[in-house]
Amino acid sequence: MICPQCRSADCFRSHRSGLIDFVCTGLGLRPWRCHTCDFRFRARSVALAFSRYAHCPRCGNFDLERIARGRVEDGILVYAQRFLGFPAYRCDPCREKFFSLRPYRRILPSMISTEERKAS
Ligand SMILES: [Zn+2]
Ligand SMILES: [Zn+2]
Repeated sequence: MICPQCRSADCFRSHRSGLIDFVCTGLGLRPWRCHTCDFRFRARSVALAFSRYAHCPRCGNFDLERIARGRVEDGILVYAQRFLGFPAYRCDPCREKFFSLRPYRRILPSMISTEERKAS
């Protein structure tokens, strides 16, 4: 999980608090908190702020490889998506191949600590 504020990968599942969190969990959105900047956010497989960009549906990776459409073998409506010319991507860590109409943006977890960021 990448923090939408500081892009640290040092995030952990936050406890639910209150009715809004309860409703969001019902929608598949789970509360998270970032260790680095203490930012609280909601996420499905990726943070909501990043969910409009292409990402791996299995692990939420944004560091994707653009592949030929013919290489996507399974998934819902593969043939329709291939025919319609949807962009195809491959996730290297989990070897998931999928189509996504979302714009591609390579979001990588930042290794910069909060202290370094404040100093600059
Ligand atoms: Zn953060
Ligand atoms: Zn993946």
